[in-house]
Amino acid sequence: MFRAFVLALILAQFPPPAVDVPKRAAPAWLDPYRANANRLMGEALGSDFAWQRLARLGDTFGHRLSGSPNLEAAITWAVEEMKRDGLDNVHTEAVKVPHWVRGRESLEIAGAIPQPLVMLGLGGSVGTPAGGIEAEVLVVHSFDELDAAGARVKGRIVLFNVPFTNYGETVRYRSNGPSRAAQLGAVAMLVRAVGPAGLRTPHTGALTYAEGQPKIPAAALTTEDAARIQRMVDRGTTVRLKLTMEAHVLPDADSFNVVGEIRGRELPNEVVVIGGHFDSWDVGTGSTDDGGGCVVTWETLRMMKKLDIRPRRTVRVVLWTNEENGSRGGLAYRDQHAAELANHVMMLESDGGVFRPTGFGFTGSEQGRARLRDIATLLAGIHADTIGAAGGGADIGPSVQQAGIPSLSLDVDGNYFLIHHTPADTIDKIDPMEMSRSAAAVAVMTYVIADMPERLR
Ligand SMILES: [Zn+2]
Repeated sequence: MFRAFVLALILAQFPPPAVDVPKRAAPAWLDPYRANANRLMGEALGSDFAWQRLARLGDTFGHRLSGSPNLEAAITWAVEEMKRDGLDNVHTEAVKVPHWVRGRESLEIAGAIPQPLVMLGLGGSVGTPAGGIEAEVLVVHSFDELDAAGARVKGRIVLFNVPFTNYGETVRYRSNGPSRAAQLGAVAMLVRAVGPAGLRTPHTGALTYAEGQPKIPAAALTTEDAARIQRMVDRGTTVRLKLTMEAHVLPDADSFNVVGEIRGRELPNEVVVIGGHFDSWDVGTGSTDDGGGCVVTWETLRMMKKLDIRPRRTVRVVLWTNEENGSRGGLAYRDQHAAELANHVMMLESDGGVFRPTGFGFTGSEQGRARLRDIATLLAGIHADTIGAAGGGADIGPSVQQAGIPSLSLDVDGNYFLIHHTPADTIDKIDPMEMSRSAAAVAVMTYVIADMPERLR
């Protein structure tokens, strides 16, 4: 009773949605799940455990780029913590990962009084010669404009000054820009930060060199610095830039996916997988991308253990390695678990931040969607009860596609792309209560799917 009272108090803190949508009545089949769902929500919302664990991760180990000692030390810590939580079958699974090293780097407007700019080399980029590359900049705003420039590209540093619309649309300049520019003879490529205008913050991220094209150094610069170059060029000034990068690739390194479980009480071979990617870029502390996704999904198992809730099926948390610059963790999981993918009931990835949760994206059957809509009624109290059109994630993708597994993503409302892949991706951007709500939403959804009598289809 006391617990129910506390939960009612906590839920009363959340204001109703701006538009008062009539809530669906909870169907009767959920009645047996209501008590444990409330216990899980009470546990998540009653403390800031998730936020504190994420803060400790970032403060202790910093960034977690593949191949770095930071990532491997953090993996060792996660294994110890999962054991301390009392999870079942805690272990690591070996993965060979790319090992790209940034080194020192700089960009300046060359001249009698050089003007330093704020930049970040792109992940996977080659470096420059030791003395750097100096050349006149050519500013373009699209691939069409680049191609139209034709012979004028040769010997230039190309700057794609493309305003951010959405990630899917704008990221292709970061990914494909280097080889598109190199094809026409550019000596280096710069891209305006792929994200909404921040406070002179550069966004790194992976590039993809095309087969058969020269590999040229590539970096992101801030929105403000791109605008400065644009203004100078518009005034008719010849702008020469000097780019210096020590970036290089070392042989593949040893890394690991981290796995922990709550073994199912009746159907232990049927598995519900939830998780996030444990690696990050080498700037900031990867708290939103994607330490938060790792910790909120891990919370489901920690809380189940603490509350002595053991669902019918096995719940498995996986902290995948190397999502950012290789996706090797997700691919290795698919291959190492090929024999049991048919027994994967559902896979859920949280990699969109742990801001205010709104519900889940879902890819699967209409029957499955109806089930999820029912379960989501248990989350109406925290307004995390929307089931969106599609759900998935980069790490669960390979397994989901291979075995046709129903897939979910945690949907949240937050300014993810403002801090994505930047030095500003640190714990202070995350609100402890919003993170607790994210943990509550994942726990309730996972619990019912893992326990309900018939398998999610
Ligand atoms: Zn991510």
